[in-house]
Amino acid sequence: MWICPQCQREFKATNQVHSCRDRELSDALNGKTAHTISLFDHLVDECLQIGAVKVYPTKSMIALGTRVNFAYVSQLGKNFIDVVFPFNEVYDDNLCFSKIKQVQGTTQYNHYFRMFFKEDINDEVRKYIRMAMERAK
Ligand SMILES: [Zn+2]
Repeated sequence: MWICPQCQREFKATNQVHSCRDRELSDALNGKTAHTISLFDHLVDECLQIGAVKVYPTKSMIALGTRVNFAYVSQLGKNFIDVVFPFNEVYDDNLCFSKIKQVQGTTQYNHYFRMFFKEDINDEVRKYIRMAMERAK
């Protein structure tokens, strides 16, 4: 076990790449179940495998960004998290998005991904995370 000296989280691998939790993020995750927090951590860690990611907690959601935000955790449920990916076109040829909704008055389509288990982030989801991050560059 390795414990990050900055955020005190435990990891199997020494110097595991992850996003350190600052106080704002800790506040945003406060009161959530251990399972939900582990889902969130896993999502961020998966994004970090692809590129540099910053986490921006706001009042109503947690944004994930590179240069600009590329995804939003819109809900931290008891046993799931909802992740929204904004794209400029509709990607409905997949199994990972439960809902696709156009943002009124824009050409932006929000793609909703509900994550119940760490394994829910499969290659299909990784493809869209990668696309979203490329788009935000
Ligand atoms: Zn850390």
